[in-house]
Amino acid sequence: MEREFDYNKENLLIVDDEIETGNVVKDMLSNRGFKTDSVSSGENALHELRNGRYTFLISDINMPELNGIELIKMAKKENPDINIIAMTGYEKDYTYMDIINAGANDFIVKPFKGDEIEAKINRILIERRIRDELERASITDSLTGLFNQRHFYNRLKEEIDRANRQNHPLSLILLDLDKFKDYNDQHGHLAGDKMLDKSGKIILSSIRENVDTAFRYGGDEFAVILVEADNAIARKIRERVEWGFQQGGGVTASVGSATYSKEMDVKDFVVLADKNLYKAKK
Ligand SMILES: [Mg+2]
Repeated sequence: MEREFDYNKENLLIVDDEIETGNVVKDMLSNRGFKTDSVSSGENALHELRNGRYTFLISDINMPELNGIELIKMAKKENPDINIIAMTGYEKDYTYMDIINAGANDFIVKPFKGDEIEAKINRILIERRIRDELERASITDSLTGLFNQRHFYNRLKEEIDRANRQNHPLSLILLDLDKFKDYNDQHGHLAGDKMLDKSGKIILSSIRENVDTAFRYGGDEFAVILVEADNAIARKIRERVEWGFQQGGGVTASVGSATYSKEMDVKDFVVLADKNLYKAKK
């Protein structure tokens, strides 16, 4: 049977104070292809969670000292992205709502079969994928596939903080297409959209792969964040972008850049790049 998810990428930590139960669950899941570790106390689980890279915590609830509810709360605090399934017995010192409120995605009643817990893990993986897709869509410009303006401001703020902290140079490019309105009027909006898409590709092929990040700022305006780039690097990349548009045909672009200096905030930095773009335009 073709599997939807790569189980091998999931690291599961199983915790149960009854060692035999923990081992049964561990075997059940490692036989299905998951990477698994097991421990026999909440304290050991916390220790493992701090040192390992787990995507799932499968936790017993009734355990001496640190019980499952407390463990789930602490695990969530430690790693908000971790997925949690609580294994419950017949004890009634807590409600299912307590477990969910503590931060678990789901619970499963002991004893259970491998199919049952696999199905629950699958459902959580589907939810995670949907959440990731929504997250990606919310920061992507659908026409060009570049990041959007909202993400631009978030990233720029992060990069400014990083530049301040680590004393790295940081530059920014703003560009807009020349006479794009005329192009639209002459060729129609569909062709205009194609040109915007093409512009995104020209920009991507002109900047440093996996280093610089390109954004559609809005309309026919684009932005590129150049990390660890001083004035000289920014100028080089700016020229490469201009050259890309000259070669690409169709439209040309005016490009302005700015290099960050310590007293600037996000707005000052963007305004400076915009001023330089305006100069380039003239
Ligand atoms: Mg127990």
